[in-house]
Amino acid sequence: MSREIHKLIPAPKSRFLRVKCLNCGNEQIIFGCASTDVLCLVCGKTLTQSTGGKANILTKILEVLT
Ligand SMILES: [Zn+2]
Repeated sequence: MSREIHKLIPAPKSRFLRVKCLNCGNEQIIFGCASTDVLCLVCGKTLTQSTGGKANILTKILEVLT
């Protein structure tokens, strides 16, 4: 029951992120440096945008999974 996910989340690199879609509230796991755009599985909103190397997170990050 550690609560250390409270610290600031730095720019995520190659790790998985649990994000919440701002549009429909769906939660899903995405890869932090996906090379393609990641869309919400429910409503199709763009969650991360590929910027040629690192992903640009466009939604709310709930947790960084290591
Ligand atoms: Zn959605």
